[in-house]
Amino acid sequence: MSYALIVAEVRRGVFEERNLDAIGLCSLLDKESCLLIPEGAYDINDKLVNVVAKVDAEEMVFLNPLNMVSILDKVIEKRGKPDVIIFTHSSSGTECASYMAGRFDLPVITDVSGFDKEGGFFMKSYYSDKIFGQFRQAGDGTYVITVRSGSFKEFVVEKSVSAAVETISGITISEERNFIEYVEEETTEVDITKADFLLSVGRGIGNKDEIEDFMELADMLKAVLSGSRPVIDKMWLPKARQVGTSGKTVKPKVYLAMGISGAFQHIAGMKDSDCIIAVNKDPEAPIFQYAHFGVIADAMKLRDKMKVVLKG
Ligand SMILES: Cc1cc2nc3c(=O)[nH]c(=O)nc-3n(C[C@H](O)[C@H](O)[C@H](O)COP(=O)(O)OP(=O)(O)OC[C@H]3O[C@@H](n4cnc5c(N)ncnc54)[C@H](O)[C@@H]3O)c2cc1C
Repeated sequence: MSYALIVAEVRRGVFEERNLDAIGLCSLLDKESCLLIPEGAYDINDKLVNVVAKVDAEEMVFLNPLNMVSILDKVIEKRGKPDVIIFTHSSSGTECASYMAGRFDLPVITDVSGFDKEGGFFMKSYYSDKIFGQFRQAGDGTYVITVRSGSFKEFVVEKSVSAAVETISGITISEERNFIEYVEEETTEVDITKADFLLSVGRGIGNKDEIEDFMELADMLKAVLSGSRPVIDKMWLPKARQVGTSGKTVKPKVYLAMGISGAFQHIAGMKDSDCIIAVNKDPEAPIFQYAHFGVIADAMKLRDKMKVVLKG
């Protein structure tokens, strides 16, 4: 049977939106799609895939690649080998994908963000989206890919019939490694996900001393100050203010990014903002591809001018 196996990512009973990118890629590949999901009451549109294969296990079982080996064995026993196994490009997705590739001796392409249907090439980007590489499997057989969040959602096609449901049971749960608990980040900081206006700063602001002035500008604009990961890693701002895949996903009315290049890990966290304004001194900065308005300028000079204007 020729099909694509999509390994769903679920967290605390929620079907993660990033799964839609894997489903969208399946539509482009023109393959029967089989969504592998732990048993549970997940809110999914069952017309988006051909088959839903429910694994007789709790969701944390999917977080352990050792369990995933047993799950995959059972899937193959029941349905035969998939043409492709698709994971999300998340920390658990990449961990499981690489483990499956090693364990089953399969080729793997990570962080796929495009598909050239005519040439049959998968595409992934390098150097903050400045160049793209094309990949095609040499020969036949199953391969593994991880899909970048936000890349294929738009290609999801709703089918006319609901998915067939299958059950995968009898899996072996690993005792070598156990899920303990989800740990909520403790914070007394502002919640950047609730802000209507975010002023976000990146490595381009140069050093920590600049933060105070940006904070002042944020106050004048009635905005909340957030940052890219380097700003957090350098401890210029607290972790609760980080935007991106390993920070928070935000959707403010206005996202004003200053000195941020636009790496995909950052873009994934803010691309759905209503209005994105980017300030960068490099006209080739990738963030301009996503911005509704772009300003090629020195962030500090523009900040100081804005403060003068706002002070009246
Ligand atoms: C697993 C993983 C998870 C990650 N998670 C995140 C995440 O959640 N969020 C995140 O942001 N990143 C994340 N990253 C890091 C990400 O890949 C980028 O490295 C990061 O987003 C770059 O931050 P930046 O744009 O601030 O810095 P840079 O890429 O260094 O860009 C700085 C920009 O500032 C511009 N600039 C320089 N001087 C000035 C000036 N005077 N005025 C105006 N512009 C100027 C430059 O032209 C450049 O475009 C993650 C990476 C990995 C591997």
